[in-house]
Amino acid sequence: MNDSSYIGRFAPTPSGYLHFGSLVAALASYLDARAVGGRWLLRMEDLDPPREVAGAQDAILRTLETYGFEWDGELVRQSERHAAYAATIERLRANGLAYACICTRKQLQGHGGIYPGTCRDAGHPDVDAAIRLRVPELEYHFVDRVQGEYRQHLGREVGDFVIRRRDGLFAYQLAVVLDDAWQGVTDVVRGADLLDSTPRQLHLQELLGLPQPRYLHVPLLVQPDGHKLGKSYRSPPLPADQAGPLLLRALRALGQQPPAELQGAAPAELLAWGIANWDASRIPRSLTLAEAQLH
Ligand code: GLU
Repeated sequence: MNDSSYIGRFAPTPSGYLHFGSLVAALASYLDARAVGGRWLLRMEDLDPPREVAGAQDAILRTLETYGFEWDGELVRQSERHAAYAATIERLRANGLAYACICTRKQLQGHGGIYPGTCRDAGHPDVDAAIRLRVPELEYHFVDRVQGEYRQHLGREVGDFVIRRRDGLFAYQLAVVLDDAWQGVTDVVRGADLLDSTPRQLHLQELLGLPQPRYLHVPLLVQPDGHKLGKSYRSPPLPADQAGPLLLRALRALGQQPPAELQGAAPAELLAWGIANWDASRIPRSLTLAEAQLH
């Protein structure tokens, strides 16, 4: 099948190095794009300088190159997109769709992570305040290509969410929606840790009149009993000298069945096989650590 209108992307955050989970996500988005002759873009999500690890941006780019990934066009950095984010926030404020919130972290405790609406109608000025988006009392749903139907009630399960932090930094939810639309992304392929962010993004797309991409969330690594790995769990950074074996492992983690002859093959050869034989319907919904052969 050929679909030259397909535009995919990989959007790493430089708060750390690429690990096996990022490789699985990058590989899935790359193969899904290339298998139909589509474009594959790279976007550095450097929205949060205090959390950025020095040297991580360069290390991410080097790792992608070593692992054989070739992106189309120039790398886009979110740090260069602040004017677009600010203009959108202004528009949402002017339309009464977003408001300033001065709640402290302490005031927000005890609400199960769901904003109780304290500042909704307080009319605070924007200075030294977070900006929150009003969410409707609605359930959002979409059909993910791997995870299937996903539903979330924004009012009850998320609440009004932050689009600009109190320290002035722009939130991921806003930036990702604006940039995917600006770059013409038709297909978002990423880790399933972002599945529960998707309804917030659908809501923003709707408010801003932006097209909705197709979604494919690749499996997260889980414990053998099906429980999520703790946040403290991190696989190690991807080593430069293991590109071939780890790409093979990532292909298998995605349910693809590379032949034994590919053992010892170079990254370019593995990616070429992956493109020619890509079958997204084989991707499993979840993946245990043992299946990913991480230890
Ligand atoms: N920057 C996000 C991350 O590294 C991914 C964003 C996305 O793919 O939507 O987790």
